[in-house]
Amino acid sequence: MTEIWLHNTRTRKKERFAPIDRENVRMYVCGPTVYDRAHLGNARPVVVFDVLYRLLRHVYGADHVRYVRNFTDVDDKINATALARKEAGADGSLEDLIRERTEETIGWYLSDMAALGAMEPTDMPRATGFIPQMIEMIEGLIESGHAYAAEGHVLFRVRSYQAYGALSGRSVDDMIAGARVEVAPYKEDPMDFVLWKPSTDELPGWDSPWGRGRPGWHIECSAMSYDLLGESFDIHGGGNDLMFPHHENEIAQSCCAHPEGGFAKVWLHNEMLQIEGKKMSKSLGNFFTVHDLLEQGVPGEVIRFVFLGTHYRRPMDWTEKKRGEAEAVLRDWRALSEGVAPGAPDVEVLTLLADDLNTAGAITRLHALAKSASDEAAKAAFLASAQLMGLLTDELGGWDAAAEVGDDVAALIEALLTDRSEARKAKDFSRADALRDGFAAAGLIVKDTPQGAEWEMGPDFDAAKLEALK
Ligand SMILES: [Zn+2]
Repeated sequence: MTEIWLHNTRTRKKERFAPIDRENVRMYVCGPTVYDRAHLGNARPVVVFDVLYRLLRHVYGADHVRYVRNFTDVDDKINATALARKEAGADGSLEDLIRERTEETIGWYLSDMAALGAMEPTDMPRATGFIPQMIEMIEGLIESGHAYAAEGHVLFRVRSYQAYGALSGRSVDDMIAGARVEVAPYKEDPMDFVLWKPSTDELPGWDSPWGRGRPGWHIECSAMSYDLLGESFDIHGGGNDLMFPHHENEIAQSCCAHPEGGFAKVWLHNEMLQIEGKKMSKSLGNFFTVHDLLEQGVPGEVIRFVFLGTHYRRPMDWTEKKRGEAEAVLRDWRALSEGVAPGAPDVEVLTLLADDLNTAGAITRLHALAKSASDEAAKAAFLASAQLMGLLTDELGGWDAAAEVGDDVAALIEALLTDRSEARKAKDFSRADALRDGFAAAGLIVKDTPQGAEWEMGPDFDAAKLEALK
């Protein structure tokens, strides 16, 4: 059996992975708070842990891996988004608007991540489906002295857990100095964090022993992972921005609520994403969502390929240059593997992935395999190896034009083509010529056939230039 080695944040070492139960390998990854479209950085952990999920399934068997990724569907940001919509005159109660927003966002998230070739986890629990479990866990923490109720809130007593800070290697005092801890009169200590807080009548709330309220973010993951994976499980993943305070708090809650268990054995954290060497931020104007890229006609597979070119524990830089190169490589690889049935993956690719997910090394090896793949057997091994990384899969489609662009862009192209044929019929040649030149400038290749106009996107396709033709 392939040996998997993973860098464990908890021990700061690369360790041989030994599942608690190899018949039931269990992984939990913190999922999104569903109030808006996922930005490109949000997609990185999804792709990283999708590769790990595929690798675990390959090694232990598809039916022996359980992967849980939650949706946080109760949160102040969701409430604020819905409140803003209500104030802008949207119909419906605040509760309806909140539900609408979370449903809509979950739908977007799943389709955007599917476009990146990410498999759906085995379980995708929503926090609002686990409120009784959260209340039960909080009651236990109060009983054992690790939490206290005050003014409708319940707080976790951080000083009651000796090992607090061990994951990120900080002392409580250092954390107080560095963190933006909220000072509140009902807190015994500024480090104590919220397990439960009161809700106003309009906001989502549930009855509890401490009055009507809603859970804090951290307790959600502790309660859902306990319910679905038990008191001890194998892997916990997430972005390294979640290490403190979220993961420290998860550990404190879970280990105090279930001291007989070990919570997560291996902690994996991916590094952040940058855009052209800079941090992605709205103020720098380089902020974009996965959907934005898909709409521009960037295939999800290209995004995935660029991500996998950098090891997950290094900052990953998204650049236009990489995007273009990835597109060219994948076009070649898709042509090479067309009509090929996947065989067994290449041993070296498997070994590289099993070495703390060395996806960059595996891609280098894929290049070599593609270069030397002269017969069917070699092509079959190449394809299976790429598919192990979630590349060249059937789910990602055949790169035909309609699959490459989002529905909105496809609709725009169709509308412009209709516009052009009407201009021709009306002998408005200046409009027809302007559209023809505009298509060329936008990198859209249009062929007139007896059945009508057909189109495909050239390598420099730019949807924004099409917008200007409307
Ligand atoms: Zn979490």
